[in-house]
Parts: sequence; C-alpha cells; structure tokens
Amino acid sequence: MKLIIDRIAGHKKMFFTAMFFLLIETFADLMQPTFMARVVDEGVKNKDVGRIILYGAVMLGIAAAGAAGAVLRNLFASRTSQTIGKELRADLYGKVLELSFENIDRLQPSSIVTRITNDVTQMQNFINGSMRIMLKAPATCIGAIALIIAQTPRQFPVMAAILCVSAALIAANMRLGYPRFARLQKRLDRLNDVSREFLSSVRVVKAFNAEEKEEHKFAAAAEGFADAGIAATRVLAVFSPLINLTVNMGIIVLLWLYDARDAGRIGRLMASVNYMTQVLFALGMVSNILNNAVRAAASSERVREILEEAPAQKKAASPLKPDIRGEITFKNVSFAYAGSSKTALENISFFARAGETIGIIGPTGSGKTTLVNLVPRFYDAASGSVLVDGFGVNDMEPETLRGAIAVVPQKALLFTGTIRENLLWGDGGASEESMRAAARLACADEFVDSFPDGYDTVLGQGGVNLSGGQKQRLSIARAILRKPKIMILDDCTSALDASTEAAVLRGLRAVSEHSGMTVLLISQRISTVMRADRILCLEDGRLLGFGTHAELMRDCPVYQAIYESQIGGGKLG
Ligand code: ADP
Ligand code: MG
Repeated sequence: MKLIIDRIAGHKKMFFTAMFFLLIETFADLMQPTFMARVVDEGVKNKDVGRIILYGAVMLGIAAAGAAGAVLRNLFASRTSQTIGKELRADLYGKVLELSFENIDRLQPSSIVTRITNDVTQMQNFINGSMRIMLKAPATCIGAIALIIAQTPRQFPVMAAILCVSAALIAANMRLGYPRFARLQKRLDRLNDVSREFLSSVRVVKAFNAEEKEEHKFAAAAEGFADAGIAATRVLAVFSPLINLTVNMGIIVLLWLYDARDAGRIGRLMASVNYMTQVLFALGMVSNILNNAVRAAASSERVREILEEAPAQKKAASPLKPDIRGEITFKNVSFAYAGSSKTALENISFFARAGETIGIIGPTGSGKTTLVNLVPRFYDAASGSVLVDGFGVNDMEPETLRGAIAVVPQKALLFTGTIRENLLWGDGGASEESMRAAARLACADEFVDSFPDGYDTVLGQGGVNLSGGQKQRLSIARAILRKPKIMILDDCTSALDASTEAAVLRGLRAVSEHSGMTVLLISQRISTVMRADRILCLEDGRLLGFGTHAELMRDCPVYQAIYESQIGGGKLG
C-alpha cells in the first residue's frame, strides 16, 4: 500500500485536479434532489408551470456541470492510474534488466511476468477506482445528512435510525466479506500459478501423456477459485436485500408518520429519501473499494519485492575498462547456486592464453555451463578468482567485460523478427558483407539463401520455424558478427551433423587465428573438442584433467573412458 501512496504522491497535480472535479461531481449530485423538492413542493403543488420550468432549467444546468465534472474526473483519474501503471512497468523492467542471473533464478521469470502485467493492472484499477470515491464518500455522507436535516428536520431521527441500521449491515457485510475476498484472491493466484506452469511446460505434458493429471490439478484450482467466489458473493447476496428491506421499511415508517404538518412538503420528503440512498450508495462503494484494496495490497507487495530486490552483484568502486585481449585465468574457483547445498564447481584452476581454443568436456551436470558463466560474470564465484587479462572480472565494468565476450547458449535464443535483424542484433552497425561472411563461417548461408525471402525471412517467437541445427548456426553467426575477444560456445553444435559441425568448427578456427579470439568450446562429444588446443575435463564440478588430447589420453582416465565409449577402436583417431 505504501508503494501505491508513494506513486500517487509523485503525481500530486493530476491527482488533485481529479479530486477537484470529483468534488464538482459530488456537489452536483447533492444539489439535484433539493431542486427536485422545490419543483414538487412549489411547482407541482401550485400547478405553477413557470417555476417548474425555472427549477427544471437549474437542474439541467447542475446536471450538465455534474456530467462535465464526472467526465473530467474520469479523464484525470484514468490518466493518473495509467501513468502510474506505465511507470511501475518501466521501473520493474529496468530493475529486472539490472538484476543478475542469481536474482532472476530466485524471483522466477514467469512470476516476474505476472507481476509486470497482472499485479500492476490490479494496482492501477485500485488507484482508478479509489479516485472515483475517495473524497466523494465522506463529502456525500456529510453533505447528504446535512441536507436531510435542512429539508426535513422532523423526520431526521427516523432517517438517522434507518441509516444506522443500514450502515451496520454494510459494516457486517464488509467484516464477513473482507476475509472471503482475501481468500478469493489467494485462490486466483493459485489458479494463475497452475495455468502458468502448465502453459510453459505444455510440450512435456503432452510428451508424457500427463494431460489428465494436469487437468485434475487445474480443475482443483479452478474449483477452489469458484468456491471462494461463491462464498464471497453469497455474503453480498444476503446483505444487499437486507439493506433494501431496511430502507423500504424506513420509507413506510416515514409515510406512516407523515401528517398534516407535513402537507406541502412531500417533495422535501422525496429529496431526503433520495439523500439517504446516496449515503448508502457511497458506503457501498467504500466497501467495494476495500475489497479491491485487499487485492491491490497483495499485488503491491509482490511488485515491491522486485523493486526492492537487492542486486546479488556488487559494483566495483572504480571499475576497470581495459582493452581486453582474451586471456582467461581461474584461480581456485568454487561456486554453488543459491539455495543449493551442493557445490557446482570445486576449486577449479586453469589458464588459457589469448587466442587459444579450450575444449570443455564432461557429462551433463558436471558444471561446464556453470564454469563458462563465471567468465562474463553472469554469476559471481563463491571463492577464488576469475581473471580476464589478469584483471578480476568483479573489478571490471560489466559492459566492458561483456562487450568483449560473445556467448552462444546451449539453447539457441532467437527473437521475433527477420533473420537479418537477428544477426545484426549483436552489432547493429555491421555491413551486409560482414553479416553474410559471418553466416558463411557458421554454415548458415546455404539454408538462409534457400528461403524465398533470404535474410528477410521472418522468424516466429524463439525461431519456431527453424530446425534446431539452423537456430544453432544462426546464433553462432550472430556471435561471430560481434567480433568478440572471447567466444563461449555452450554445446551449441549438438544438433549439427558431423560434417556440418566440422565445417562450423573450421570457420571458428579461422576467425580465432585471424583475430586472436579465445574460444571456450563446450561439448559432450569428444569428437567436437579433441582438436581444441587444450581440453578441460570436468566431472561433478571437479577438474580432472587439463591438456591436449594426447596428454589427456595419456594421463586422464575419465577422458580415456569417454573416448573409449564414444569412439572406441580409434575409428576417428
Ligand atoms: P553442465 O553444463 O555440465 O551440464 P551445469 O553447469 O549446468 O552442468 O550444472 C552443474 C550443476 O549445477 C548441476 O548439478 C545442476 O543441477 C546445477 N545447476 C545448474 N544451474 C542451476 C541453477 N540455475 N540453479 C541451481 N542449480 C543449478
Ligand atoms: Mg550445460
């Protein structure tokens, strides 16, 4: 809630303009019945058409002012809430971009999405809704009660009694409704979680024929939501007729007590009854807004959690911006993922010269990806140091460090857009020739040229209209185009056939020899890494061997075992 108030405080001008128009609207609402009383008591009773027309005109004027007030109030209230929503989304997005992988792991990407979309909308609706009623409710209550006293002082005690009973009913309604609406919100969150999880894993669910199981889970969540909704609305269903009953009984009592002294004041009585309903309506609105407040408070809490997430990585006091050549040093590096007791890397030390190609081999889960992720500082080592050109990566300006590194992740990431846009994404200023050259080096030119639209072929989200191997080659080409000093290839030739893979590796070798680029080449296949200058052999986060293929064949039993299992009798030698 504090977040919402803070954000509104940032737009005082718009907010108070809206409030000003809200007061005009309220005032108009309050004046209408008073003039109606006059029409009835002075005009209708005396059959005085002139007066009827006069008061009618006044009422029309008030209605016009009220409508103008309402329209402008609406305009400013919407603008305030929309602006706050827009700013919150921008802030959240900016914050997420600033966070490290560790933070993102903790907050979970899909939940971040819900917060940026749904939760901000919830807050926005609350701000908009409360700006309709905020000042109006107390102003209406006070104004209407004062006017009841002015119009019909003799009937006031009865009206006050009706109002008290109805207000008590509304309060009881809120008391019972509030926790039920809170529960409704919880159930809705649960339903959202279940659907989100299902939708993000729909392929796996289908592959495992687990639709039925997921359906049950969803049905249970949907039923929970429906039950909570029914429980919440049941409360409303009981109370709103009760309130109506009270008001109608009250009117009967009023008419019962109506006597000769009130003759000629029937219009005033009508006006007072009208004021009474205005008060009740305002109270009803308040209780509605309070129900929305439950949701908005929960949403604002979730949004605040992101905004206040402390970045897991500290910025260097005076970050270094060296010209990076591409030397990589690991000194006794250990690492564990947050919330995991197991160490993913244990005491790793090695040194790679600039321009060298380092193969990294090891079974799944051995820590290959983790190791290379420490170089661009996607994560920070728990102990030991990672150095590039002899400078600690933590002491460097992240933009300088990452500007010199290109990462081709295990899962090729392409964006919606043309192939050209995707390739130029790493370096928007590259020329057409260098783009085509990069594609050629990554063996992507052939299949791109075979498309009718060539480089202007539009890719769907994540490159859905390409094969795995095509996506991998495009992401390698994109990385080459950046002309990095350090190239990280995380098992990104796995979907290529042997001869295409060999051609891609030759292309990379040529780039490396030409530009002095250091290459970290991860693979589970020995045939991919065996021609690297030197090879790191990992198992269970430990470094079992580091050397050339020949050295490892001689000294590293695990490497030999991998070789035996994959290549066997030396067919590939
Ligand atoms: P590889 O790339 O060799 O397959 P990884 O470096 O991805 O291995 O994983 C090494 C270990 O760290 C594994 O035990 C894996 O379960 C764990 N791990 C990887 N990523 C994360 C993560 N984001 N959070 C927690 N644990 C992780
Ligand atoms: Mg991996």
